[in-house]
Amino acid sequence: MIKVYESFNISQVGQAQSLLNAEGIETFIRNEFASSVMGEVPFVEVCPQLYILDAAEEDRARELLRPFEQRAAAVPDWHCPACNSEVDGPFGQCWNCGQLRPA
Ligand SMILES: [Zn+2]
Repeated sequence: MIKVYESFNISQVGQAQSLLNAEGIETFIRNEFASSVMGEVPFVEVCPQLYILDAAEEDRARELLRPFEQRAAAVPDWHCPACNSEVDGPFGQCWNCGQLRPA
């Protein structure tokens, strides 16, 4: 088994899994239900992780996930300095109070 992707955002891990499954690569997610145990075990232990079953598929899997990872990394989520809400990376303005994203 090879870990090819991990994110604290389970929906992103799920999207990555769908992408690989659509290409016929067998996958499974570890710590899929991690959010229920957060706070009880070290944070790094519960990050949802996407594995592929066949090591021979690793290069292809990483190639498929590259644009996915770059997109996620390019726009990290941010915290509003005014109201402390968590805002999705692509948004330039706080959904809660309208504060613009800090530079
Ligand atoms: Zn705000």
